[in-house]
Amino acid sequence: MEDWDIDHQRSFRHMREAMVADQIAARGIANRDVLRVMREIPRHRFVPPGQSTAAYEDRPLPIGNGQTISQPYIVALMTELLEPTPDDLILDIGTGSGYLAAVVSRLANRIISVERIPHLADCARHRLQCEGYGNIEVVTADGTIGYAPHAPYDGIIISAAYQSIPPLLLEQLRPGGRLVMPVGADDEQRLHKVQKLADGTLQTTCHSPVRFVPLIGRYAWADA
Ligand code: SAH
Repeated sequence: MEDWDIDHQRSFRHMREAMVADQIAARGIANRDVLRVMREIPRHRFVPPGQSTAAYEDRPLPIGNGQTISQPYIVALMTELLEPTPDDLILDIGTGSGYLAAVVSRLANRIISVERIPHLADCARHRLQCEGYGNIEVVTADGTIGYAPHAPYDGIIISAAYQSIPPLLLEQLRPGGRLVMPVGADDEQRLHKVQKLADGTLQTTCHSPVRFVPLIGRYAWADA
């Protein structure tokens, strides 16, 4: 590694430490594993070239095709609500940059990540492979129908919003599983967490107000 490169890595690490302390821990995220993983994963490698220094700011960033990588705090909050454990098989809908999948992959066994825009799926697949995330499989498809080949899932996490939770996603959740999704109108939503109990009953709790890009597909908004 060149000297300037070592300096760069060091300053990115400092930015990550500050991000976790000021934006995430300070707002009440207490799960130590989530905080550790967010300190470790180089978020600047998941944003477009030229944006790397903005990667640790307290906001979402554009990643092309009209989509965004979520704000760091929201990634941490969704991961905490998902409660991934080391044996879990997780379905991630809306791969985008692949950053959320990367974070969750460090806390679960295997991730199936679905993205509808082929260019974003291809870039994320390539990036995740190069960065060594061997337990993430990126699939180009409409995630509103879930992904039947590997169902049921211990956790399902959706990074795009709709007025209700697509029914097939609830079907593909294992008893004992958790689903996290922004639910609401197109300009503001709330994070919802659904737990499927052992007897199949669904228990829903409502969390922070959020603003996500639309979920587009067969069981959500139509493609404009
Ligand atoms: N988790 C991502 C956030 C990306 S934004 C990250 O960490 O970067 C949400 C993504 O959901 C967009 O890339 C969008 O194309 C995708 N999306 C929207 N509707 C979808 C659907 N029906 N199936 C799969 N992906 C979808």
